[in-house]
Amino acid sequence: MDSLTVAATMTVRDALARLEATGKGILLLMDDSGAFLRTVTDGDLRRLLLEANSLTDTLGKLPPLTSQTLGPNYSRREALDLMNKHAINSLPVLSDEGQVLDVIRRQDIDSQVLLSTPHMGESERDFVEQAFLTNWIAPLGPNVDAFEKELCAYVGSAHGAALSSGTAAIHLGLRLLDVGPGDRVFCSTLTFAASANPIVYQGAEPVFIDSEPSSWNMCPKSLERAFEAARSEGWMPKAVIIVNLYGQSADMDPLLELCNSFGVPMLEDAAESLGARYKGRQSGTFGKVGVFSFNGNKIITTSGGGMLVSDEAELVERARFLATQARDPAPHYQHSEIGYNYRMSNILAGVGRGQIKVLEERVESRRRNFARYHEGLGDVVALHWMPEPDWSFSNRWLTAATVEGGISAQEVIVRLSADLIEARPVWKPMHLQPVFAGSRYFQASNDSVSDTLFANGICLPSGSNLDDGQQDRVVSALRKILA
Ligand SMILES: *Cc1c(COP(=O)(O)O)cnc(C)c1O
Repeated sequence: MDSLTVAATMTVRDALARLEATGKGILLLMDDSGAFLRTVTDGDLRRLLLEANSLTDTLGKLPPLTSQTLGPNYSRREALDLMNKHAINSLPVLSDEGQVLDVIRRQDIDSQVLLSTPHMGESERDFVEQAFLTNWIAPLGPNVDAFEKELCAYVGSAHGAALSSGTAAIHLGLRLLDVGPGDRVFCSTLTFAASANPIVYQGAEPVFIDSEPSSWNMCPKSLERAFEAARSEGWMPKAVIIVNLYGQSADMDPLLELCNSFGVPMLEDAAESLGARYKGRQSGTFGKVGVFSFNGNKIITTSGGGMLVSDEAELVERARFLATQARDPAPHYQHSEIGYNYRMSNILAGVGRGQIKVLEERVESRRRNFARYHEGLGDVVALHWMPEPDWSFSNRWLTAATVEGGISAQEVIVRLSADLIEARPVWKPMHLQPVFAGSRYFQASNDSVSDTLFANGICLPSGSNLDDGQQDRVVSALRKILA
């Protein structure tokens, strides 16, 4: 700091030399008592010289100026807004008493910490290059076949069909389970809309099921209540969509037992939980049909894509058939059913093959993120981490927590955003969505668990490429906000 402060007796020549040596783009002119007067930049000195002053004149010749400054509790957003408004790149930070505490530069503060960004490995380009070299630029080809085999080998599923998105995989999954107009489908309420929208694509009606506090996923008691209600009213759902939230499997044993005892097939939405385990077995392999997503923010990505897996060969065969316009095996173009254009491109499957190689590392990195948040913020009583039951090995796709205490999760998110840190609320439950207003909803007791998780939940930056410095920024920002 001392090297940046200068007195009015300093010559222009010395001031230029000092600017050069300190490299902050700014000097701080102080009065005799050490109080801050104004900032001095290259431009100020240049103008002084152009006004027929010489290098040996002193800074006393500078006109008085009310400089832009920041208070001690400035946010990065505030600092950048001020810099942009005045077209400057450095700002002094003053204490409430007017002492200079710091000088910040644009390049030190303008970086954002994002929630979850794509993280490429070493070999994605090679597989994509191979697609170009062999001109396999189509929604089929060797990368697609290999990606299906490699993903199935990783999760331990017998068959898989690579598709254009996770949503497409859910949609096809519902077709495979014969969900159609007038049917009802049970679905976890605490999820992203893509879990439930395909129910409506099929002309069926979603019925939403609450979460349990211990895993944040579908509550077996609520599911049982829903089944009992359906039976007493004389209907049964055509399928149950169970979502594995934020990288954690739902409690599959009791949920599956219920589905089996009522004879209703389960579609497992494992879009967020690739690489996670339930009692040692890979997430996504519990349902009659399992679904993964490779969207840009997921644990591995093909930029956009999905996979439908099943142990039943005919189901996956049929998924491929429906995904390629349901073309009958005839020499001419003949169709006996409505199909879709849902296959994954051979270029994107190349990206997926590279990503599969680093999936295990990505799981470790995300779990490490969680462990570091836990370590850095473990003593902050307002934060309650998403639990990991002993039967669960979560991939910790997103580190999630609830904020309980004086401040709302929404306020925490706003304040993190002012520090250029992207945090997000927990998914807004489907039974609270305007588009699903009027849908039925089953909860275990009078308190809706998903409502509470939504009201208090927050997801923190969790990318596998988040570095320790960025994460420390989030930790210290949160400590400050929740102090
Ligand atoms: C991302 C996601 C999907 C949809 O996957 P896309 O590949 O984006 O279509 C479905 N369900 C859940 C829970 C998701 O998080």
